[in-house]
Amino acid sequence: MEHLLVTGGAGFIGSHFVKRIVQADDVATVTVLDALTYAGHIENLGRAFLNPKLRFVRGTILDAGLVDDLMARHTAVVHFAAESHVDRSFLAAGAFLATNVHGTQTLLDAARRHGVEKFVHVSTDEVYGPLPTGSAVEDDPLRPSVPYAASKAASDLIALSSFRTHGLPVCVTRASNNYGPCQHPEKIIPLFVTRLLKGEPVTIHGHGEHVRNWLHVEDHCQGIERVLRGGVPGEVYNIGGGTDRTTNELTRDLLRVCGATWDAVTYIPDRQANDERYSMDWTKIADSLGYQPVHDFEEGLATTATWYRDHPDRWAPLLYDPHAAAASNGSGILVAAGAGR
Ligand code: NAD
Repeated sequence: MEHLLVTGGAGFIGSHFVKRIVQADDVATVTVLDALTYAGHIENLGRAFLNPKLRFVRGTILDAGLVDDLMARHTAVVHFAAESHVDRSFLAAGAFLATNVHGTQTLLDAARRHGVEKFVHVSTDEVYGPLPTGSAVEDDPLRPSVPYAASKAASDLIALSSFRTHGLPVCVTRASNNYGPCQHPEKIIPLFVTRLLKGEPVTIHGHGEHVRNWLHVEDHCQGIERVLRGGVPGEVYNIGGGTDRTTNELTRDLLRVCGATWDAVTYIPDRQANDERYSMDWTKIADSLGYQPVHDFEEGLATTATWYRDHPDRWAPLLYDPHAAAASNGSGILVAAGAGR
């Protein structure tokens, strides 16, 4: 773990992880490999750039030559890079298969060639599919419902097959829904917060009774670091311990922290394949690696909302739709940045 390669380190969770791990005394260098898709932002890494251990490489995990070259200089990998937004996977599943499945295989192949000592593949509770009751344990069958989750399930199995077939020291982590600063405003918590801060309405799919477990991103990163350091190769670790909320309950909490009322909320027909409930048992990582989440949900939600309130410069540009703006002001003009110079 002396020389760490972090894929997708400019995204939401990856950037929090890099800011944490770059401070570890036993880590000599941290290289972020990130394609900077619409979801990746170099600003997310912020103060980490003050640390001389950090290197940033813009590139795709699908570039086998680049990946091979980088892997030769690294001893461990934490793999976050992915297409991560469920709704987008309904429209363009191909990109999810390319990055999440083929990209993962490209990394695994290079890791094997160069004798990487640890490879942590970061995955999601969505691979287990919906659970009306009970909680999934790590060796439960995978029953993903949507293309995003199916591509993650495929990549989990491919990663584990690299251990079983080739002995590559792979661990897989599966976490519940993350929240915290720097999340792209397409995801529900920042979407609702940014809309409410702008005085705009928010919409709930169906009856709002879908249950998700909300885990603070820093608790997730704590779990990943524990797996990186002590996880047994070939093992899967659920990282849960967040707070269960139905969408209605989450909306109630978000209205409160944003100072808004239910007048801002409308209900729309449910999205396709909207799983009713996810739930994971995370006893294994707690007992074997000492993982314990420390963030209180109410407090974490309030500080997350405050971050969005204080940093409109970080999210407002991501919400700007030039086509909608041109249509609404009637000019029909799409002004590109730098036009006229
Ligand atoms: P994100 O969308 O915020 O970040 C993804 C990052 O990957 C971005 O920086 C993007 O530029 C980069 N990327 C995308 N395609 C790439 C490619 N081909 N090559 C290199 N970089 C590429 O996602 P996130 O929410 O930070 O999720 C990170 C990981 O954690 C994903 O694997 C996701 O499946 C998993 N996960 C997310 C959650 C959650 O609630 N967000 C929960 C559990 C697991």
